[in-house]
Amino acid sequence: MSEFAKPRGTADILPEQAAEWRAIEDAARQLFETYHYREIRTPIFEHTEVFQRGVGDTTDIVQKEMYTFLDRGERSLTLRPEGTAGVVRAFVEEKLYGEMNTQKFYYLGPMFRYEKPQAGRYRQFHQYGVEVIGSSDPRVDAEVIGLGDHLLRQMGVKSFSLLLNSVGCPVCRARHREQLLAYLQPVRSELCKDCQSRFDKNPLRILDCKIDRDHPVVASAPKITDALCEDCARQFSQVQTYLDEMGISYEIDKTMVRGLDYYTQTAFEFVEGSIGAVSTILAGGRYNGLIQMLGGPDLPGIGFAGGVERLILARAAHGATQVGQDRVDVFVLALGEIATKPAARLLHELRSVGIKADSDYSGRKVKAQLKVADRLGARYVVLLGEDEVAAGQVAVRNLATREQVTIEQSELVSYLSEQVSLRF
Ligand code: ATP
Ligand code: MG
Repeated sequence: MSEFAKPRGTADILPEQAAEWRAIEDAARQLFETYHYREIRTPIFEHTEVFQRGVGDTTDIVQKEMYTFLDRGERSLTLRPEGTAGVVRAFVEEKLYGEMNTQKFYYLGPMFRYEKPQAGRYRQFHQYGVEVIGSSDPRVDAEVIGLGDHLLRQMGVKSFSLLLNSVGCPVCRARHREQLLAYLQPVRSELCKDCQSRFDKNPLRILDCKIDRDHPVVASAPKITDALCEDCARQFSQVQTYLDEMGISYEIDKTMVRGLDYYTQTAFEFVEGSIGAVSTILAGGRYNGLIQMLGGPDLPGIGFAGGVERLILARAAHGATQVGQDRVDVFVLALGEIATKPAARLLHELRSVGIKADSDYSGRKVKAQLKVADRLGARYVVLLGEDEVAAGQVAVRNLATREQVTIEQSELVSYLSEQVSLRF
């Protein structure tokens, strides 16, 4: 074992894997742009209060999972555990609400949570996500959910379930809370330690507790979905109407309440069955009230976030092949000391026009170098021996057809530019 090891719950993404990561990130960006969402990049750390306020004091994230530290100026900072609070903080601080009625953002990047690492759960992980601020129209809910559905399909996750619920607004939540507390009071002492403290602070979360949700009394507790006020009930049914119209199937799951304090109305999760214990690959919901809570105007919002690591696990479970075979177009092979200088120049010239090229720097024999060329998947080998150097020429071998031509060095770039169609 080496003396230095990476921190628990983090990963090195090696070049082979990075190709798949990049393909996923590129495809996600392109898809978000197709829906006319615009990228926003916010800091990796924020003032701790941003998350205390924006994620909520009673959540697992704030209570147990944040990487919080004092900087040298004694300010309390926190590595971002999720993306929404930072985006909304930026939206308010930069006064983006002046620009347009509805703003649509997306982001990609690392998040940090102090969790118990396991497959699909890490301390540094990566999310892609979207936020739409400024509209409470149920068409927006359906658009955001539809975008999540589209993304997962496009990424090669062929089957998953979409769970849908409404967690209401402060009006219906207050009413439901009374019912729930009365109902749970007799079994209060049987609940887990976390739920005992949730009892007063955020009893809705008890329904979603991984330990207590199977408790018979908790399982049959009154559901917020059955206690919605008129506005929330209408919103919920309209979201379903639009999803039906778009041909997106879903299941209503009245026990799904999501982890964050600020969710209102629509809540949803995309769940994939074959990747084990942590099967939620993408989740989101509406957060009317959050923008105001972070000091902005009273505007509604909705968004989702998905985990890249869990997406990669799901892709593998669905047989999505790894992308981005690492290969070069051209391998420049210098034979002998005398060839090294012109070879270095030609390599540079090829790369300057965007031809992906590499070379061997160890001065090995032809055979060994040709093996390297083969391993790199080169389509052409440019050979420079003593004779070629003396004549100012190069030999160009097509590795697929085995054909070889000898041309002037000065013609190499234009010759290969024609042969190699550039890949993007
Ligand atoms: P879980 O119930 O699995 O802890 P969560 O409700 O905390 O999930 P969200 O905060 O909704 O998760 O984050 C959205 C998505 O980000 C999740 O569906 C998952 O794909 C991913 N995710 C969350 N936490 C982690 C983690 N620690 N490691 C890897 N991916 C994660
Ligand atoms: Mg979690």
